[in-house]
Amino acid sequence: MKNPIEFTLEKYSGKKSRFTCPKCNRAGEFTRYVHPETGERLPPYVGICNRKDKCGYAYSNGDYIRENPGAHANERITSALPKPVIPPSFMNWALLSKSMSHYPENNLYLFLCNLVGMKEAEAILAKYYVGTSKHWAGASVYWQVDLQSNVRSGKVMLYNSETGKRQHKKQTWVHAVMGLKGFNLSQCLFGEHLLGLEENREKGVAIVESEKTAIIASRFIDSVVWLATGGLELLNPATNPAKFKPLIGRQVILYPDLSLPNSFNGDTAFKSWTRKAEFLRFMGVKVTVSELLENVATDEERENGFDIADYLIRK
Ligand SMILES: [Zn+2]
Repeated sequence: MKNPIEFTLEKYSGKKSRFTCPKCNRAGEFTRYVHPETGERLPPYVGICNRKDKCGYAYSNGDYIRENPGAHANERITSALPKPVIPPSFMNWALLSKSMSHYPENNLYLFLCNLVGMKEAEAILAKYYVGTSKHWAGASVYWQVDLQSNVRSGKVMLYNSETGKRQHKKQTWVHAVMGLKGFNLSQCLFGEHLLGLEENREKGVAIVESEKTAIIASRFIDSVVWLATGGLELLNPATNPAKFKPLIGRQVILYPDLSLPNSFNGDTAFKSWTRKAEFLRFMGVKVTVSELLENVATDEERENGFDIADYLIRK
C-alpha cells in the first residue's frame, strides 16, 4: 500500500465514485480516500459522509494512520508475498478441566469470595472457564474458548486476593509456559463460548476491556452476555475482523474503561472505542458505546482507570 498520507478524498466522477456510508447506510453518499496515481483506495470505512448534518460520519486518512501506526510500513513488506494462512492452534480440553480446581490457592477466587460469597464465586469461575495456575503462587487462568468450543489458550494473571488489583504487570499464556513449539495463538473474545448457549441466544452483548471486569459485571447484570477483549488495544476489528465475527447481527454495547488522554494522540479509551465502533458497525454489528461512566466520572476515577465493575460494586 502507498503511504496513507498521500491519499485524498475522491473527486466526483459519477455514481461509481460515491459509496454507502458505514454509519447511516445511505448509498451514494460516502466519499472515500483514493491514491491520485494508483487509484487504490483506503478501507471502506475511511472517508466522509456527504450528509454532514444528518449523519456527520468522518474518518480521515489521518485518523487511519493514527489507528494503524505502521500499517503502511508493514504492508510494504508483506504485500509482496502471498500471506500464508496459518490456522489457529488449539489446546486440549483436559488441560482446561484440570486447571478448574485448587480454588483456595487462587487469589481471584479469594477476592470474589469476599465480594459475592463462595458459591457465587465458584459459579462465575465455572461459567467463564477461569482456572488456577501454578505458574505464580495464587495465579489464575482465563481460558479463551470460542463458539465452536475450541480452546484457543489461557491467559495467566496474578491478583491481590484482598484488593482484587493486579499483583504485577506480568502476564503469560499457558502454551508459552508449556513451551509448545509453533503454537499459533489466535485470540477470541473472552467468554465467547457463552454466546452459543441456548439461554443467551436472544441476549445483547456487553464488551469490556478486562476479563475480571466481565466476570464481575456478569454477577450484577445478567440480562446481557459480558465479554472481554483482553485489553484496550484488543478491540481491533480493522486488523482482526475474524475476532468480531461472532458479534454480527447482535446488539452490542461497549463499556470502555475511564482513562486520561494518552500521550500518543490524546485519545481517551472512550474516544478510541467510539472510533473502533464505526468499523464494527460497518461489519454488521449493531453497536453503541456506553457513556455511563463518562457522565459520572470524577478526575480521580479517570486517573485510576475506573471501570464498569468498579461502578457496579460501588452501587
Ligand atoms: Zn452517513
